[in-house]
Amino acid sequence: MTHINNKSVMSRVFNLSRGMAMGEAKNKSRKRDEILKGENRCIYCDNSPDSVEHMPPRSIFDNGGRPSGLEFASCSTCNYSSRASDAAASFLARVSPEHKASPEVMRRASKILSTLSYIAPGFIREIFDPNKSEEVWAKGRSNIYGKMQKITLDGPITTSLMQAFGAKLGMALFREHTGNPIPMEAKVFAQHYFNSGLYRGEVENILSILPAFGQLTQGKKTSGRTFNYRYNTDKREILGAFCAFSDNLFFRIFAVCNPIYDDVLFESHDHKPIQPGTLPILSESWRHAFENKNF
Ligand SMILES: [Zn+2]
Repeated sequence: MTHINNKSVMSRVFNLSRGMAMGEAKNKSRKRDEILKGENRCIYCDNSPDSVEHMPPRSIFDNGGRPSGLEFASCSTCNYSSRASDAAASFLARVSPEHKASPEVMRRASKILSTLSYIAPGFIREIFDPNKSEEVWAKGRSNIYGKMQKITLDGPITTSLMQAFGAKLGMALFREHTGNPIPMEAKVFAQHYFNSGLYRGEVENILSILPAFGQLTQGKKTSGRTFNYRYNTDKREILGAFCAFSDNLFFRIFAVCNPIYDDVLFESHDHKPIQPGTLPILSESWRHAFENKNF
């Protein structure tokens, strides 16, 4: 697998404007009881489920517009402990090289920033570190050159949060497409990319082995560009997926429960795999990264 630079993100959009912390959209597309019925296990650990997990989370979508689907039984410990990774992914999915973000994108991004300033202040300081940012002339998606902020996102907190989010995606898609929660001895290999770090050739390589297409659908509404993925699975012990969020944030994921795949997957990923049952520990690890940096 080609090694690629996946550490930079181009941004024309954000100026650190802050809004008020707000709750999530309230409209639930399926009833909690219906989702929990017959589920013995959290999709992320071996606890009994007592909450509904939306993966990807509702905060990824503008205007409260999450179509139904990919709603899972989870325990409240995993659900709660991973909310910073959900919020960080929701923010980074909106950091775009486009000339103008819509007012709704800006409004949602400001709200998420405000939430993150409470639950993950180290993430905010890390991504807006002036030493990691430079003004550059670069071509946006519309092929027009302009001034952009190039932000290097290789800090330990951003990496931990994106690893946790990628692991959640892998475990959720494993449940969705194999029909069973991922076994506790399984591993999830996740690689994340930002909008300036993924090349067309790499994408084509990945997509060539992932023939099936997935997105959220509710009547005529689909998650479209905001969230879609390609995947392949033997419906038993391996699932591979490539997930795209608004052409800004991407994850290449393998969820596997047979160690014969380990060597090749270790080689092609920058980070160690994540096992079910470790989300609360992971969220502790990024808090420690925050404390060690003495912010
Ligand atoms: Zn759990």
